[in-house]
Amino acid sequence: MRAVIFTSPDRPIEIVDVDLADPGPGEVKVKITAAGVCHSDLHVRRGEWQPPVPLVMGHEGSGVVVQVGAGVSGLVEGDHVVLSWVAPCGQCRHCRAGREARCQLVATVVSPGGVLHDGTSRLSRDGETVHHYLGVSSFAEYAVVPASGAIRIRDDAPLDTMALVGCAVATGVGAVTNTAGVEPGSTVAVIGCGGVGLSVIQGARLAAAERIIAIDVRPEKTALAMRLGATDQIDASGVDSVAALLDLLPDGVDYAFDAIGKTTTTEQAIRMLGLGGAAVIVGLPPTGARASFEPLTLAEADQRILGSNYGSVRPAIDIPALVDRFMAGDLLLEELISSRRPLDAAAAALDELEVGQSFRTLLIP
Ligand SMILES: [Zn+2]
Ligand SMILES: [Zn+2]
Repeated sequence: MRAVIFTSPDRPIEIVDVDLADPGPGEVKVKITAAGVCHSDLHVRRGEWQPPVPLVMGHEGSGVVVQVGAGVSGLVEGDHVVLSWVAPCGQCRHCRAGREARCQLVATVVSPGGVLHDGTSRLSRDGETVHHYLGVSSFAEYAVVPASGAIRIRDDAPLDTMALVGCAVATGVGAVTNTAGVEPGSTVAVIGCGGVGLSVIQGARLAAAERIIAIDVRPEKTALAMRLGATDQIDASGVDSVAALLDLLPDGVDYAFDAIGKTTTTEQAIRMLGLGGAAVIVGLPPTGARASFEPLTLAEADQRILGSNYGSVRPAIDIPALVDRFMAGDLLLEELISSRRPLDAAAAALDELEVGQSFRTLLIP
């Protein structure tokens, strides 16, 4: 099959033929309908994260089950699925407690090793192992994934658009509902209005937040944020966004989401908090980045800093529920998609994301 391979930040990504083995026990093969291009793919290409290479890129996607491995129940050929980059093991103490985004096997074996649950890869090229990226590798014609990472969704949902639910939307909405537990009437600031930030904004709207302040350096992005539920916008290109936020809400906010993940934006999110506020880190920084805050202020103001991995998602519950909310008209997702392009456009799509030009590009293999 054709797939987008990353080898080193010093080499362009390549579209080549790779071999994909049949699904093993507990796995399924999915024909990819669409794959979303996300900042986490960019971190890899820039060399800011160092997963095992070579790898097939992509961790957001949707498709159709075409082959089912031994022992899989609940999925059959023809099922429409959204891929989850946390494929819970179901056995570890976090999975048993229903906190699957913390799955021990995913955190210690699958993601760092570039493999599936049994510690091996189904991908190869000329006999050499090629790694999975976050257990998904969706920039390809097909993917073999653990069955727990292929979440069956309703047949009447537009399958290509639903790819977004697998990363950006689950991460953004989940950060609001699962990680932070934003209450009705809350005040919320969101730094960064890309695919994840706009999903945070929609999550905050669904949670009935009273004020939702969208902050970005690109006015077209905050303008879209206003259409998706933000009540106020701050153009951060020429101003100190903390001062601008405090002009709007002098007491600070109850929740500040950093949907970018730079040292500066994380520090800004903490400084935007009011009494009892929580800063939620959703966007991911490069490995080794350090941010600072004043512990005395945090303690005196009874504030919290929360990390949110994948929106603390429970894939099998949250992903179908998010699809339902889209079908009910509560979540707007078509608006997040800048373009649909062939697999060959992967490098160009990453370039556009690099300069902040696009919201979400869908690659259609
Ligand atoms: Zn992502
Ligand atoms: Zn687990």
